[in-house]
Amino acid sequence: MVATIVKQIKDDLELHRLVPPVNVEVFARSLGVTRIKRSSIKASGMLIAGKSGYSMLLNEEHSWKRQRFSCAHEIGHLLLKKLGLANPGVSEARFQSPSSARKIEETICDQIAAEILLPELHFTKDAEGSNWSLESIDQLVRKYQASAESVAIRLVKLMPNASILGVWRPTSIRKMRMKLEKVISNTARYKLPNHVNPATFWFLRRALLGEGLEHGSSAVIDLYPHPALKEIPAEAIGLYPPSFRRVMALYFPEPKDPL
Ligand SMILES: [Zn+2]
Repeated sequence: MVATIVKQIKDDLELHRLVPPVNVEVFARSLGVTRIKRSSIKASGMLIAGKSGYSMLLNEEHSWKRQRFSCAHEIGHLLLKKLGLANPGVSEARFQSPSSARKIEETICDQIAAEILLPELHFTKDAEGSNWSLESIDQLVRKYQASAESVAIRLVKLMPNASILGVWRPTSIRKMRMKLEKVISNTARYKLPNHVNPATFWFLRRALLGEGLEHGSSAVIDLYPHPALKEIPAEAIGLYPPSFRRVMALYFPEPKDPL
């Protein structure tokens, strides 16, 4: 259901045709937001209906890239309201906790934000140009004015072949441990193990401490026909700022099409 609603909104507004970097505030105003204000709020963003239109509040303490994402996310809420679909998860979440409907709406708005900030036509062309590698991530971050993580997630979501993105956090350098903090995948067949083996640890650590992209290989769990570990090509890059101490790895269980 989430995918159907996002697709409907994307098609109605032709979001896939937007040209980067998308001016999200101008876009919000074109949809009826009359006032955009930065202030110290608890949330990332808020949308308030008024007599003459909508006001949007953005968290002034967040980075401008995050404010762009929040603005695009709030546009998502606005579009759902306009379609009469605000709280669209209600029917599906009837037998679940009341907060499920809210969660579904938030997921839809995050996906709409990605459709706005990383429009499909341009993004797919750029990603194909770099053969779906994290190689050009800095370039894409600059071009789309989005965070490295949202760019990487978009790569995985739009890539035609199976791919998995893992965000790892080192927990003990001495014991060579890293914890899987986030995983995004476009395939149900492959899964990432929750911990890294020593060989993979060094590959990820090089990426964490280095300046650029590292190539290596890593074990993923192939669930078909029965769960088995499979060594596959992977690439990794450190996430900025360094104080975050995260490393992002992209795994390719299926060979990519040649350029
Ligand atoms: Zn929201």
